[in-house]
Amino acid sequence: MIKIQNYINGELVAPQNGLYLDSFNPATGQVHAQAPDSGRQDVDEAVQAAQNAFPDWSRCSARTRAGYLRKIADLIERQLPQLSEAESADNGKPLQLAREVDIPRAAANFRYFASAIEQFSSESHFMEGQGINYTLRRPIGVAGCISPWNLPLYLLTWKIAPALAAGNCVVAKPSEITPLTAFLLAQICREAELPAGALNIIHGRGETAGEALVRHPQVGCLSFTGGTQTGAQIAGRAAPAFKKISLELGGKNPNLIFADCNYRQMLETTLHSSFANQGQICLCGSRIYVEETLYKKFRHDFVARVKSLKVGDPLRAVHLGAVVSKAHQEKILAYIELAKQEGGAILTGGKAVRVEGRCADGWFVAPTVIEGLPNRRRANQEEIFGPVVTIQPFKSESEAVNLANQSQYGLAAILWTENLSRAHRIAERLQAGIVWVNCWMLRDLRTPFGGVKNSGVGREGGFEALRFFTEAKNVCIRY
Ligand code: NDP
Repeated sequence: MIKIQNYINGELVAPQNGLYLDSFNPATGQVHAQAPDSGRQDVDEAVQAAQNAFPDWSRCSARTRAGYLRKIADLIERQLPQLSEAESADNGKPLQLAREVDIPRAAANFRYFASAIEQFSSESHFMEGQGINYTLRRPIGVAGCISPWNLPLYLLTWKIAPALAAGNCVVAKPSEITPLTAFLLAQICREAELPAGALNIIHGRGETAGEALVRHPQVGCLSFTGGTQTGAQIAGRAAPAFKKISLELGGKNPNLIFADCNYRQMLETTLHSSFANQGQICLCGSRIYVEETLYKKFRHDFVARVKSLKVGDPLRAVHLGAVVSKAHQEKILAYIELAKQEGGAILTGGKAVRVEGRCADGWFVAPTVIEGLPNRRRANQEEIFGPVVTIQPFKSESEAVNLANQSQYGLAAILWTENLSRAHRIAERLQAGIVWVNCWMLRDLRTPFGGVKNSGVGREGGFEALRFFTEAKNVCIRY
C-alpha cells in the first residue's frame, strides 16, 4: 500500500492530525493508496513555508527559475513509465492515454513556461516631452492552486508551472480522488533540488484542506479548475478578501457537423471528442448537432463505431477504461435514466459494463449515444462528465448556432465544415472560449484557454497565465 505524504518546505511529511483517506483504483475497485486527510494546520504550515521562500524565489533570475522547471520536466520524462502507471491506476484511464497524453503534456507544461518566462516582457508608454511610464510585472506572493481528478498531473502542472515561473511560491491541493502523481511530482521536485518552500503540496478533502487554502489570508491568488458549483463557492470566499481568481469550470460542449465536412476525419475525431478519457474531459463534445441531410448516415456510422469501442482493463489495449469512482459511475447512470425519462432513446450503451478478471469490481460505463432528447432537457443542459453524448439534427446554420448557444456553459465548441466563410462566421457567433474547426484538442500552449458564461472566469495558457500570476505596477518617470 502506498502511503502518500504532504510536501511542505521541501520535506515529505505526514498530516498533523495523523488521518488518511483511502484512494481507490477505479478499474479494480480496490484501495491502492492512502493520502493525508490534511487540516488547517497543514495548510497554515505550507503557506508559511511558501511565504518564507518567496523573497529568494521571486528575486532569483527568470533564467534560474526556468532552469529548475526544465530539470523537473526532464525528470518527468525520465519517469514516464512510473508516472503513467500511477495515473492510470489512480484515475482508471487507459495506460496508453496516460503515457501518450497526460504525462508528456505535464512535462511540456514545465518546459513551455520555462521558455515563456524568459520571453515575457512588459510595456512602456512614452509621453512626448514629459516622461515615460513602464509596467513592472511582479509576482503576487503565495499562489493557491486547486485541481481536479480527470487529468490529475496535467492540470496540476498547468497551474503550478506558470505560478512558479512568474516568481510566486505555491501551495497546491490536488483532488483527493487522484493524489498519486502529485506525490510523485513532490519526489521529483526534491530530486530536482527545487528550493524548499517554493512548491508545497497538501493532500486532503476540498471542504477541509481546500477550504482552508481558499480562506487563508496570506494566499494572494487562487487558480482553480473543477466544477461550476465549487467555483462559485470559491469566488464567494475570495471576493471579500480581494483575492485574484482564475476559474476553469464545467462545460457542455456542442459539436456542430455540417454535411460538407471531411466525413472520415470528422467521424474519427468525433469518437475521440465524445469518449476520450471516458468522456471525463471538460472539453469533450457531448451535444452533437448534425445537418439534417447527413443525419441518417452519421447516425448509422457513428453508432456502429461506438459499438465497436472496447471498454475494459486500462492496462490492456482498450478505448475506454474505468470512470473515476463508484459515486461518479452512479451519477452517470442516473443521468442516463433521466435522459430516458425526458424522452431520449438509447441507441447504444446506456448501462454499466462488467469486466471479467482483476477488474470484476471496477467501475465501467458503456459509451452511450442518446437520440431524440429535446435541447432544453436537463440531460442536455447539465454536465454529465462521462461517456454519454446526445445527437440531434438541424436544418440551418442559424438553428445550429442557436442550439449550440442554448446553454449555461461556454467552454469549447467543435465545428466541422469545409466552407471557409461558414467556419469564420460560426466561430465568431459561438458563445465559447475555445472553438475547434475541423479538429479537437489540438493544443498550442501559447493560446488563451478558458470559458465564458458558467464555464469560468479568466484565461490560462501562454502569457495570459503569466499575467494572472503577476500584478502590473506602473512606474512613471518625469524628465
Ligand atoms: P470539484 O469542483 O469537485 O473539485 C475540484 C477541486 O476542488 C478538487 O481538488 C476538490 O477537492 C476541490 N474542492 C472541492 N470543494 C472545495 C472547496 N469548498 N474549497 C476548495 N476546494 C474545493 O471538481 P471535480 O474534481 O469533480 O472535477 C470535475 C469538474 O472539473 C468538472 O465539472 C469539469 O468540467 C471540471 N473541469 C474543468 C476544466 C476546465 O479547464 N474548464 C478542466 C477539467 C475539469 P476534492 O476532490 O478533494 O474534493
